[in-house]
Amino acid sequence: MVIKVGVLELQGDFALHHRVFERLEIQSVPVKVASDLDLIDGLVIPGGESTTMSLLINSLKLWSPLNEFAKDHPVLGTCAGLIMMARDVTDKRVKPLGLLDIVVDRNAYGRQIESSTKIVTYCFNSIHKFELATTFIRAPIISEIGVNIQILGKFDGVPVAVLSEHHLGLSFHPELNEIDIFHEVLFDTSSQYFYKKLNHAHAT
Ligand code: GLN
Repeated sequence: MVIKVGVLELQGDFALHHRVFERLEIQSVPVKVASDLDLIDGLVIPGGESTTMSLLINSLKLWSPLNEFAKDHPVLGTCAGLIMMARDVTDKRVKPLGLLDIVVDRNAYGRQIESSTKIVTYCFNSIHKFELATTFIRAPIISEIGVNIQILGKFDGVPVAVLSEHHLGLSFHPELNEIDIFHEVLFDTSSQYFYKKLNHAHAT
């Protein structure tokens, strides 16, 4: 199956996501207007500034097309992208897409983790366990977890990687450390970590 993934390029750290897809040998293209969504099989919402991203999504009339697209396509959100995927954000200037049943608090780590690299242990289905140096930049905190959420990684007891069927949210920047595994989870059908395999193992 040939997969073409879009990277939402309104603002923020989108360029390095294309490098991840090059390494995975998956085609990736920019998404800037609603019609770009017709040409892709999945989407990355990158890190950046969620208040700005939210304003741009609204002014470009992208909120409904993105929400509709996400119903049956995989979406990966990193940092500000995770904020955009939440059900609720404590900062009401952000109008999130409601793809993950989580509540998110922007910049809640404060200065301590404004920008830092931590070793985080990730665990997929309690089978695949690995440690990765993970970069947080003014990261959001996931303050509430709702239904149907698999936690793939925690830092300091707080979830930093959450999967809900075909939606994956990360509070960090995998692209900065050449961490490709989360892009594999959502978009690499040949990977042992492909989300359909993880969801299946989770359910059984
Ligand atoms: N603090 C930013 C926000 O609230 C997110 C930071 C990031 O994406 N690195 O949107």
